[in-house]
Amino acid sequence: MKLMYFFDNHIKHHIMKGKKYCHPANTGTFGSGLSCIREYDVNMWFYTKGATTIAFDSGHLNFKGLEAEFRKIHIIPTAIQHLFLTHADVDHAGGIDISGKNIFPNARVYLGRDEEPYLTGETHRMKKFGIKLKNCVKIREDYLLLEDGDLIRIEGISVTAIHVPGHTLGHMCYLVDDKILVSGDCMAVNQNGGYSFFDFFTQYPELNKKSLRKLSRIVENKSIEAVCSGHSGIVRNIDNLFSHIDESATSSKKHPFDETAPWDFRK
Ligand SMILES: [Zn+2]
Repeated sequence: MKLMYFFDNHIKHHIMKGKKYCHPANTGTFGSGLSCIREYDVNMWFYTKGATTIAFDSGHLNFKGLEAEFRKIHIIPTAIQHLFLTHADVDHAGGIDISGKNIFPNARVYLGRDEEPYLTGETHRMKKFGIKLKNCVKIREDYLLLEDGDLIRIEGISVTAIHVPGHTLGHMCYLVDDKILVSGDCMAVNQNGGYSFFDFFTQYPELNKKSLRKLSRIVENKSIEAVCSGHSGIVRNIDNLFSHIDESATSSKKHPFDETAPWDFRK
């Protein structure tokens, strides 16, 4: 078993239990063409326009019961032809890892250019107790690498890539049809607004805060209808989305980040 997958599968939920650090949306549809699947503590998102559905992130490796989740939102995963990864972490890119079942076998995969060194093992993902840990995700090599500002048009849908480095070096947010922001893991959001994502999981916290200031300037002039996050569900009220981005989110049993969040995501 590869180390990061072992941590993701067997350790993370024990150490995070009761800390109420995140609050993903349950599998369902939300209007504005949006739907999501929840896999434990993380969401993958879908945007549908006309007959076309595109996907954002792919969840965990070999998530059990996934077929039933797809049925709930009436999406056939083999029909997905475009998958945008916010980043290559195990809980976002695990669903297309070549060591497991690829849930989107027919999709062209897009990800940020600076995310590639994690996939090739050239760079480490985090440093814990002085030890450099590598991301162990391996995906098919026919992916397309995106630069900041790249615009992709798919059957009348526009997707703009916004490079938001910090959580990982190649982390991308995606602006869809100028009204939906897919934010990945750059921010954690609670009732008070958005914070820079938890330091423990963020490789470069200060860089992330700087990137969030850039993101806020880009989003400022748009009419955003919804923010689809990696671990905080869907956010409709964006008035205070950037009000705490100079602080890192923190959570503990005594001081939970989101009092309304579930206690244990495996239940
Ligand atoms: Zn994540």
